[in-house]
Amino acid sequence: MKVFHTIYEIQKEIAKLKAKKLSIGFVPTMGALHQGHLSLLNEAAKQTDIQVVSIFVNPTQFNDKSDFKNYPRNLQSDVDILAQQQCAMVFSPTEKEMYPTPDTRVFNFDGMDAVMEGLHRPGHFNGVAQIVSRLFDAVMPDKAFFGQKDFQQVAIIKKMVQKHNYPIEIVTCPTLREKDGLAMSSRNKLLNKEMRRAAPLIYNSLFDAKEKIPQYTVNEIKQWVINSINKSPHLKVEYFEIVDETSLQPIQHWDESLSIRGCVAVYAGAVRLIDNIRLNS
Ligand code: AMP
Repeated sequence: MKVFHTIYEIQKEIAKLKAKKLSIGFVPTMGALHQGHLSLLNEAAKQTDIQVVSIFVNPTQFNDKSDFKNYPRNLQSDVDILAQQQCAMVFSPTEKEMYPTPDTRVFNFDGMDAVMEGLHRPGHFNGVAQIVSRLFDAVMPDKAFFGQKDFQQVAIIKKMVQKHNYPIEIVTCPTLREKDGLAMSSRNKLLNKEMRRAAPLIYNSLFDAKEKIPQYTVNEIKQWVINSINKSPHLKVEYFEIVDETSLQPIQHWDESLSIRGCVAVYAGAVRLIDNIRLNS
């Protein structure tokens, strides 16, 4: 496994592989790797010849400075983990490498960034698009693998790829969960014992809500999920929305012609956790 720190070097290596007609699978991450990340890599290994993982905590997608500062970072242990996997290349650039000058590009997501994550984390998805587009330019993959855990992010990336005509297939991979249902996340490392014990209530509430459809209205389900999670003194819902999967716009009534998803963001102390579930089949 080779570790690269500059765009020039990784592009040179990728060009050699492409000349040999090998397909490139790319998994962008912010590190502090867990099984969820590795499941994306696993899928990439099934679908492509050469796998590349990037590790970069992207400052432009953090709207909250202390969240950026506290985000877990352990590059050496990440590299050690990846060396045990089917991973040919790691790309771990510095901030200066990715942003030699400030990125002032503003992306248009047709309103998808005006709800839920986009609404509560202003500029977040613009920062995601800034870094993912730069990483795509550096790695030039055939396929890029993203987790359903960040459902809204995948929708935004697909929109960006479509609008900017990137010749890259976006592959969505299922959310990996701990045994108690909590979605795996690098941020779980920041939870104290009480919070960690309370956190499975997030997915359990989403799961139970699914059983209540369609006997209850959209608004009743929304209220039920919020109350159910907020019952824990360690959890506080920031938002729970029931949305159309394609547009991310909230729905008012059950509509079987739509694919419907429930998306939630919850604070456990200062730690922000997100999760989502498909609500209809
Ligand atoms: P992050 O390092 O949090 O930016 O995540 C990098 C990639 O891993 C993103 O595509 C995430 O959606 C994905 N990911 C994070 N957690 C999980 C999980 N529990 N299951 C599947 N994919 C995940």
